[in-house]
Amino acid sequence: MESADIVHGACLCGQITLSVPRNALPKFAGICHCLDWKTASGSLYTVKLPTATKEIQIEGQPKIYSVLSASGNTADRYFCDECGCAIMSRVKEHPETTYVNFGPFAKSGFALPFPVLEQFWRRGESWEKPFEGVTLVD
Ligand SMILES: [Zn+2]
Repeated sequence: MESADIVHGACLCGQITLSVPRNALPKFAGICHCLDWKTASGSLYTVKLPTATKEIQIEGQPKIYSVLSASGNTADRYFCDECGCAIMSRVKEHPETTYVNFGPFAKSGFALPFPVLEQFWRRGESWEKPFEGVTLVD
C-alpha cells in the first residue's frame, strides 16, 4: 500500500505513532462532551474517529488509563506518558472499535470529516452552540 493510502499520526513528542489506511477512517467524526473527556482533554469536547481496531497500527508503547464510564463500561484511554497527548480510547466490552482522537492527525494533512453526532450534549457549556445539522445525544 502506498503512503498516500495511509494516514499517519503522532503524539507531540513522536514517541507514539499511528498508521491507518485512509479508507478505514470514518467519513464522519463524532464529538463527545462527557465529563471524563472534558477532564482528560482540558477542552470543551473531544473529536473522535471511530475506526475498526484491526485497521490501526501503533508504534511505541502508549500508557493506558482505565476508567468506569457513566454507561457502566470500562473505557481504556491511551496516551503518551512522555508528552501527555491523548491518542485514542477503546471500550473494554467492545474492543472491535477504537475511538481515535483527531489530535494525533492534526499535523498530518488529514482533513477532519464533519461531525454528525455530539454526545453528552447536556454536559456542554450553556454558551456552546451545536454544529449545524448534527444529531445531539444527551
Ligand atoms: Zn508523546
